[in-house]
Amino acid sequence: MHILEIFGIILATVIGMEFIAWSSHKFLMHGPLWFIHKTHHMPRHGRFELNDVFGIIFGFASILCIIAGIDTFSPLFWIGIGISVYGVLYFFAHDIIVHRRVKLGMRMRGRYAEALRKAHLLHHKTITKDNAEEFGFLFVHPKHLNKK
Ligand SMILES: [Zn+2]
Ligand SMILES: [Zn+2]
Repeated sequence: MHILEIFGIILATVIGMEFIAWSSHKFLMHGPLWFIHKTHHMPRHGRFELNDVFGIIFGFASILCIIAGIDTFSPLFWIGIGISVYGVLYFFAHDIIVHRRVKLGMRMRGRYAEALRKAHLLHHKTITKDNAEEFGFLFVHPKHLNKK
């Protein structure tokens, strides 16, 4: 496959994954799977929370695609890579920039980082299943960008 096709598949997968994550956050996690996701809206006791299983599930999906496509480096292989890339970006944005589960010893102060923090902390204002807003993880509505 041409390198541009590979980049295209990875990029499309990352964008698609944000859409999947956004809609599952809105309709499943704040719906029938709230009993799992609520652990993320309550203070965490210890290093992990039940909500982390969602990350593990997407990790498995990625590994399955990679294994299924590795013989021929088919598009499925690159979709698996794309899911992994999304996982890394998601972890960086949501768990490090916003929730600071891993302390980098500095605070990211870029416009995007600040907007991401603002939007996601708005999501965390709600500790109930209903009435939450801002379900994205990487996508931030431009209205949250501070004008400089
Ligand atoms: Zn939530
Ligand atoms: Zn969060």
